[in-house]
Amino acid sequence: MFAFILHAEREKSLLRRHPWVFSKAIAAVYELTELQSQEETLNLATIESQGGHKVERKQVPAGTLCQVRDSKGSFLAQAHFSPQSQISLRVISFKQDESIDYDFFKRTLNAAFAKREALALEGNDGLRLVAAEGDYLPGLIIDQYNDVLSFAITSWGIEANYHHLVRALHELKPNCALYERSDGKTRLKENLKLRAGYVDPNDISPDYNLVDQEGKPQPNCKRITPPQDKEIADTLYVKEKGLVAIPIDVKQGHKTGGYLDQRESRYHTYQLCQSLKALAQAQALAQAQNQAPAKKPQGPTVLNCFSYTGGFGLLALKGGASAVYNVDVSAHALNAAKSGVVFNHLDPGRCKFIKKDVFAYLREEVAKGTKFDVVILDPPKFAESKSSLTTACRGYQDINRLGMQLVRKGGHLLTFSCSGLMVEDLFQKILADAALGAKVDAQIVATMRQAPDHMVALPCPESFYLKGFDLIIS
Ligand code: SAH
Repeated sequence: MFAFILHAEREKSLLRRHPWVFSKAIAAVYELTELQSQEETLNLATIESQGGHKVERKQVPAGTLCQVRDSKGSFLAQAHFSPQSQISLRVISFKQDESIDYDFFKRTLNAAFAKREALALEGNDGLRLVAAEGDYLPGLIIDQYNDVLSFAITSWGIEANYHHLVRALHELKPNCALYERSDGKTRLKENLKLRAGYVDPNDISPDYNLVDQEGKPQPNCKRITPPQDKEIADTLYVKEKGLVAIPIDVKQGHKTGGYLDQRESRYHTYQLCQSLKALAQAQALAQAQNQAPAKKPQGPTVLNCFSYTGGFGLLALKGGASAVYNVDVSAHALNAAKSGVVFNHLDPGRCKFIKKDVFAYLREEVAKGTKFDVVILDPPKFAESKSSLTTACRGYQDINRLGMQLVRKGGHLLTFSCSGLMVEDLFQKILADAALGAKVDAQIVATMRQAPDHMVALPCPESFYLKGFDLIIS
């Protein structure tokens, strides 16, 4: 077995159970004898005289299960090696004697699934079953949409265990179709090929995982054309909060098909629209009692920016919104959004679907003086890396300034950032600057975050990525 020895003082994060080892933390790599790999603490001075030998990193194949040890030779964790990435090792177990095999995957996946059951998420047919680092399984996302498991692999370690993973998934959820969406661009950073398609659970052999020293060729699992009755529909309608069904396109949609992480924020929108409508009704009643000319009470008007398949819009309509404007650049997403309104028997006459760049749309509407009761801003990740954070901050400030200008006095801005690098404090500061620019006062009345099945592992702050505020604008 290979053992990666860390530089002194670089073991702290692993001792705190953070799962990543950066390239710069590695001091040396040894290939150990079977006996040496079982020792809790190696004597580094005598490794070579006892059969072990030093190797170059490049001799370790991608996806190999290795040991990580501190500068004194003490065992820290078992991790998979990734030669291309800045994160050279991702921990799969902190136990020295744990075998990483089929049983491990079955046990670990089963435990992750059981936690979701304990969250009492009834009424939702879309669930994140495995949340990568958040579930101590770096490089693996599994989402369930109705009876489809859509999964994405983003690390060499999971790639190397493909056959165990697929077999375990099929055993645990035998009635679900398996669809792989390992086609996100983060795979390219790892030098992993992009891959998507149906997976045949009965035809995955370990040979598919053979990799050479450079990590090539990569697993080339067999794809199937499912029988017609097992074909996944282009659009699935996935029940959320027992209220509506959200359109999800597993084959062509973003990520694994959709954004389950915003489930609670969409529900917040539903409740907000309900209470704004109730308030309007109460005000109309009071006016009528005072014999003042009463306006017909109306639900709130909602601008849903970066709408994707219109999830926020559906919950807003269900909550009583009188008009919902969905804005997105993707015609495909907007078509799905339209189909969602029909599928849920909501009134298409209350919706608009606008294919436009949100920045341009917001500027035009500000110039016209348009106002909405609720504005939602749920942009894609603006900050992909530390170097892009400054530009990203400017982007967040711009859309939020414009968004705030479109909210009528007393209305709400629901604003989000899914960039892990944008911590909550920083986001709040950016919003404060945006409010200054928009010449409004804004107060936080609620905070929002990723849905609970998108678990956050305490030692890994990076697994908390989605944050949002409900701001009341005056
Ligand atoms: N709120 C959605 C998820 C939003 S994902 C939900 O609850 O499901 C981000 C969306 O922003 C994607 O649909 C993408 O097509 C869209 N998008 C990205 N950049 C955009 C831009 N400049 N203008 C308009 N839409 C954009």
